[in-house]
Amino acid sequence: MKTIPALRPITPAVAEEVRRLIAEQTHVPAAWDALQIWGTIGRTVVLKTNGTLMISTEGVSEEDETPVELTDPGLQLEAMVVGSRRWPLLKDMLPERPADAAACTSCRSTGDMWPESEHLVLCITCNGLGWYLDE
Ligand SMILES: [Zn+2]
Repeated sequence: MKTIPALRPITPAVAEEVRRLIAEQTHVPAAWDALQIWGTIGRTVVLKTNGTLMISTEGVSEEDETPVELTDPGLQLEAMVVGSRRWPLLKDMLPERPADAAACTSCRSTGDMWPESEHLVLCITCNGLGWYLDE
């Protein structure tokens, strides 16, 4: 049975950088006070400076629904994997790989189903980590 590892808490240094990036971005409502780390059709995931991930399934404008806390551990992981590809310092929040973690054969440990493609297609076996916990 596969266990989804938990994210690590945000560090003060990452929180400070996220705060700076929030101020720079222009396409997310200021009221959300969060950094967009994953945007795809029907799904926008943002990161608050306290490390909370929020999700909106409507869109990104003042009129759209306010994001709600993202609680699904698989989606949390995938969002942080996507975000950390753009901003490598977010890797500080990804789970640390334990010595007994299994290398993911579905994606050859890349986290990406099609590494040769220019688009990231997250591996559904390991949620993009390249490894998983098998218990
Ligand atoms: Zn994989």
